[in-house]
Amino acid sequence: MFAMVKFFNMMVFNQKEALKKYLSNLIKNDKTTGFVPTMGALHNGHLSLVARALAENNVAVVSIFVNPTQFNNTDDLVNYPKTLHSDVAKLQTLSEEIIVFAPAVTEIYVDGITSEVFDFDGLDTEMEGKHRENHFNGVATVLKKLFEIVEPTHAYFGEKDYQQLQIVKKLVEKQQLLVKIIGCNIVREANGLAMSSRNERLESETRQKAGFIYKTLVKAKENFATKTISELLKWVTDAFKKNHLFQLEYVEVTDADSLKPIRKKIENKTYRIFIAVYAKDVRLIDNIVLN
Ligand code: AMP
Repeated sequence: MFAMVKFFNMMVFNQKEALKKYLSNLIKNDKTTGFVPTMGALHNGHLSLVARALAENNVAVVSIFVNPTQFNNTDDLVNYPKTLHSDVAKLQTLSEEIIVFAPAVTEIYVDGITSEVFDFDGLDTEMEGKHRENHFNGVATVLKKLFEIVEPTHAYFGEKDYQQLQIVKKLVEKQQLLVKIIGCNIVREANGLAMSSRNERLESETRQKAGFIYKTLVKAKENFATKTISELLKWVTDAFKKNHLFQLEYVEVTDADSLKPIRKKIENKTYRIFIAVYAKDVRLIDNIVLN
């Protein structure tokens, strides 16, 4: 097992102690470390986070780790793409200074593959939490471990996983971690489909037509001022009933902070619409701000 190798010209660590030692020599005084945790199969959405981490910090660290405790579906875990070489090559196009951490599962889960149980003040009981049991405990478990290893000053997360972003902020607040969490805009394909590692598994016709998901959200936004919430939800549900390529799992309009579903609009509050759909066995999520 290697501790650190150079892929192309990039430093890739797979042992936490080697990474910690390297970072402690590199980071002195008031230097900042920007961290981007990922599960690999990198696309331009991930790279936009990394570009920000590079621009805003002295050192940028990217982890590539398919975290078993956040999958509640074994097929999804097994089918998750693992493409370390091409991921490192993509990172290199941004900068050869990026430090990559790509550990094995046993390096992170030393005492068995289990999740810690967290209290997220109810943020985890909505939407993804309802449909992916224990998912957010798994996410927080791995992030807590990764934050302990990397000790970042700043960590970057995409609004693509907006509920996750809110939960990570809550984790940091509750555990009093010394890292600033920064949310980043969703990067989309030309047709509007939110970029995702799972898009690679879509059949080409489905992928072309998957802009429908985003377009439906945008139309909901256009109608937000004039329709009630239940009219809006019904309209989205009906639009998916007529489209046989995508099966709607849920659509929710929530308060952007608490993530509680709303039934009535209140002035001066910000709302978002969230959606999860299946295209055959591929699960896609998206969300946009409504007002
Ligand atoms: P993942 O590898 O799916 O765990 O994603 C790693 C990070 O990249 C998470 O913070 C995601 O929210 C973010 N991310 C994934 N897709 C996108 C996207 N299309 N735009 C912006 N951020 C994204």
